[in-house]
This record gives sequence, C-alpha cells and structure tokens, in this order.
Amino acid sequence: MVEPKLQFIVDEMESLRQAGLLINIRTMESPADAWMIVNGKRVLNLCTNNYLGLANHPRLKEAAKAAVDRWGVGPAAVRSIAGTQALHLELERRLAEFKGVEDALYVQSGFCANQAAIGALVGPEDCIISDRLNHASIIDGCRLSRAKVLVYEHGDVADAERVIVENVKSYRRALLITDGVFSMDGDIAPLDRLAAVARAHDLITMVDDAHGEGVLGRGGRGIVDHFGLHGQFDIEIGTMSKAFGVVGGAIAGKKVIVDYIRQKARPFLFSSAVTPADTAACLAAVELLEESTELVDRLWENTRYFKGEMKGLGFDVGRSVTPITPVMLGEAPLAKELSNRLFERGVFAMALGYPTVPKGLARIRVMVSAMLSRQDLDVGLQAFAQAGKELGVI
Ligand SMILES: *Cc1c(COP(=O)(O)O)cnc(C)c1O
Repeated sequence: MVEPKLQFIVDEMESLRQAGLLINIRTMESPADAWMIVNGKRVLNLCTNNYLGLANHPRLKEAAKAAVDRWGVGPAAVRSIAGTQALHLELERRLAEFKGVEDALYVQSGFCANQAAIGALVGPEDCIISDRLNHASIIDGCRLSRAKVLVYEHGDVADAERVIVENVKSYRRALLITDGVFSMDGDIAPLDRLAAVARAHDLITMVDDAHGEGVLGRGGRGIVDHFGLHGQFDIEIGTMSKAFGVVGGAIAGKKVIVDYIRQKARPFLFSSAVTPADTAACLAAVELLEESTELVDRLWENTRYFKGEMKGLGFDVGRSVTPITPVMLGEAPLAKELSNRLFERGVFAMALGYPTVPKGLARIRVMVSAMLSRQDLDVGLQAFAQAGKELGVI
C-alpha cells in the first residue's frame, strides 16, 4: 500500500506491466566487451553503443589512470569558474582538429550539449525547424529554449522547406536541427539537401552526430564529413559516450558560435566540468582514431556481414544504412519474448517498444560493433535463426 497521493504511480506501473511496456533493467557485471556478464550469465553483447570497443580499451584506461595521478578525481568547479583544466582545452583542440571545425566545447554529456547549444542560440522570439524523429535531448533542448518548435516530416526536405517558407518570416531567427543518424532506425538525415534549403533561407543549422561520430565519414569523422559538408553546418553536437567509449558531449563548429556558447550555455555555467579521467580517456580515443581507421573499417565489415545474413534468414531489418540494425517485430510483447529467448541462448539484444519507438513498431535493436569476431556474429545469427523460427517470425 502506498499513500493515496502516490496511488497514480502504482496504477500507471500496472498499466505499463499489462501492456508489456515495463522496462526490464538488466545489470552488467563486467565491462562493455563483446561478451559480458549480465544478471550472472555470460552473453554476447549485441546492444552496446561501444561501436569501436573503446569503452574497455587498454590505451584509454591507461590515459584515465595517469590523469587521476596528475589531475585528481574531480574538477571541483564549473568550467566558467575554476573547473577548466588544461586537459579540457587540449581535448577541445584535438577534437576540433579531428572533426575539421574551428572550435569545440566539451560538456558533461550529449544530452547537455543539446540543451547548452539550443538554448544559447534561440529564445522565445525565434523558431526551430525540427525533424519529427529528432532525439529526446533535442526535443527537451528545444522546449527549454522556449522558441517555437515547427516540426517537418522525418527526413522530408520538401516538407522542411514548406515549413520554413510558411513560418520563418514571423520570427526573429530560425534554427534548423536534425539528428544525423536516427538511433532507432539507423537511417541518416539528407544533410546535403537540408544544408541547401537552410542556406537559401539563411537559417542557422545544427546536426546531432551522436551515432555518426566514430562511425560515419573518413575514419569516423562523422556525418558532416560523410557528406563532404565541412563549414556548411554551423553546429555539430556530439557525444563521447558512444563510439568514443567514454562519457561527455561536444559542441563543435564555428568559433564565433562556440565562443558565444561558452558565455551563455547554462549546463556549462551551472554544472561542474567533466572529470580528468574521462577527459583524458576521450583524448586518447581521438588520438587512436586519428592514427588508424582499422576499428572503423572492421565495424563496417561486421555491419555488412550481419545485415546480409539477417536478411538472408528472412528478418526485416528496416531501412538502416548504419551499424544500427533494427529487427522489426511489430508488437512489444513479441519483441520482448524474442529478446528473452535470445538471452536464454546467451545473446543479449534488447527489445525496444513504446515510448522509445512508435506503437506497433516494436523491435530488437542490434548494435553491431568492431569488437565482434566473425564467430561472435555467427553465434548471434544462429540464436536469431532458432528463436525467430520458434516464434514464427521467420
Ligand atoms: C545518445 C544520444 C544523445 C545523448 O548523448 P549522451 O552523451 O549519452 O548524453 C544525444 N543525441 C543523440 C542523437 C543520441 O543518440
């Protein structure tokens, strides 16, 4: 029994349970490697954002340990007061070089980066032109800015232009924001055509490259590099928590904008800096990617193999053009049941349902990574084949 004022929670949890939408949060008991211990069981890891295997990479761990000895464990202040260490600036310089932009700012997370950048650039007199499927952190960043949010249909440049033509003249400024890679479907934004439309109407442009960094472009330089659009997107949002394997967010782009964000962004001004260990590990990740494309190349090789084999088995793997591989199943209970049966067979692949994806589009999202050997991928494929047949999916 709970207090009457909290009864709504019990009711809501019960309805989630009945709809099969309650999230089963599993506990990892080992690093995010190809094989992990999850709830006491050794399983193949097919649901990590650790695309390149950097989360447990010896070189990043060494860098983090050395940074603790040299700089301590905490920054003990926000960046704008006494929390900016030389290490942060070094990372920002190297990251800007890697991405081919004028300047970069390292913040606490990708989520924070969106809040920092959007709120600094637009306010209540402005509007935001936003893709319907943009990430939750973009949506929340837009809400916090109090700018008018105008949504265009997913990936639809003609619709974006219609929204722009009909609306922007009523506002002081307009900002166009899109995810680069859409994390649920693995498709990518038509960045070249969006850039052309934005240029024609003089919009500020921003792309969230969280799933593109370390994955797309030359040696993992991201989606702007993939399209050859250097200098044409004003702001690139990034995360250091996916392919880079650590934690933190990045705001990269024109110096005039990044300098302004240093003065204005609330997560930068009111929340403490990232720790030295994380910062140094990120720096090691950037250096590693600059030195060699081996990991990125292996990621794509694995992606081509896994997707090809899954299609051959008869699975619907959606419209992804990236290592994100949605296995489309329809209703959430079926996706959860398939995920459970994979887990019994030693394969960890999470089911995603509403509200993470629209109702009726539940799926298992496989994240292919460079860590997986051909044998590992075959273990995964065999489990999908068996469990998929049992449930009549294939
Ligand atoms: C994961 C993700 C984020 C959040 O990044 P964190 O560093 O985990 O906070 C932001 N935007 C997109 C598109 C993402 O996929």
